[in-house]
Amino acid sequence: MKHDYYDILGVPRNASQDEVKRAYREKAHKFHPDKTGGDEAKFKEINEAYQILGNPEKRAQYDRFGTAENFGSPGGPAGFDFSNFDFGNVNFDLGDIFNDFFGGENRRGSGRASAQRGRDIGVTIEISLEDAFRGLVKEIELKKLVRCMRCKGDGAEPGTGKINCKSCDGAGELKKTQRTFFGVFSQTAICPVCHGEGQYPEQSCKDCAGEGRVRKIEKISLPIPAGIESGGILRISGKGEEGLRGGPSGDLEIRVSIKPHTVFERDGADLYSEIGVPFTIAALGGQVEVKTIDGRVDLKIPAGTESGAMFKLAGKGMPYSASRRGDHYVEIYIRTPKKLSGKAKKNLEDIAGEL
Ligand SMILES: [Zn+2]
Ligand SMILES: [Zn+2]
Repeated sequence: MKHDYYDILGVPRNASQDEVKRAYREKAHKFHPDKTGGDEAKFKEINEAYQILGNPEKRAQYDRFGTAENFGSPGGPAGFDFSNFDFGNVNFDLGDIFNDFFGGENRRGSGRASAQRGRDIGVTIEISLEDAFRGLVKEIELKKLVRCMRCKGDGAEPGTGKINCKSCDGAGELKKTQRTFFGVFSQTAICPVCHGEGQYPEQSCKDCAGEGRVRKIEKISLPIPAGIESGGILRISGKGEEGLRGGPSGDLEIRVSIKPHTVFERDGADLYSEIGVPFTIAALGGQVEVKTIDGRVDLKIPAGTESGAMFKLAGKGMPYSASRRGDHYVEIYIRTPKKLSGKAKKNLEDIAGEL
């Protein structure tokens, strides 16, 4: 099912980036799962829509093709081999990586599929916002077809060879001619017996019955870069299922979903939170402690602060490059005491007379 991102955010197609941002903030606020009347599914949908429409480049692509699929370079990015990836030593520009690997979905390598290529595997993993902030190495277990060790993927019992396929005479394909009311149609199909290879093992390997692959659980250490966005895709070439009889492996596509946070809302690299400030501090000025994604900081509240006032904690947001971070915006709401002592009430009555 295709969603219309403009409908989801409730903005017209010609809305400005500012209008898109405003609509997103409003809706994310309203449907945040921790709020009464919140809706997690809707919240995720809103975030997904904003990841496309909030980014002018992705939005232009979406407008042109009417789909969020097939973003990025045609046919998907070249293989990114995580096995040699030294995660303790990140010195690349995350921006580039993000453009290449994240923000798209369903990037199946078009035209690359062959009869022997292994299937692509798509999995979704869920991480916390804190994990997305720091980056992490996630251990995942995948049940998938891996190379058979007995025949080394060949499919033939060790010590035996291969013979020409009798079904296709070694051609690997079969021609089918069909006579219909509209004329004669000729179709070429991959031979189902040898799967296009033209030959098959003289004697099938005992472990894999000639497939060259067996189902096993494989453990993968997946480095997730700091700053990844919800819906971001990590594509690892060759980590999908093993191909038939030594054919190329499919790709592994991991979609990273970030759990909604109880305190922070995220908008790209910026974070937003709300904090209740006692009305006395709001009136007189003072200091409150604010929880940020990496610890608590003191926030100065100037005298005469009103509800809805927004304060910026520069550089306290999410990372968006190896050394840069977005900002954290704190919205103030004024807290009024429910119970007052007789003395406090008297004092307030005196003030009320003054105002
Ligand atoms: Zn085997
Ligand atoms: Zn054949």
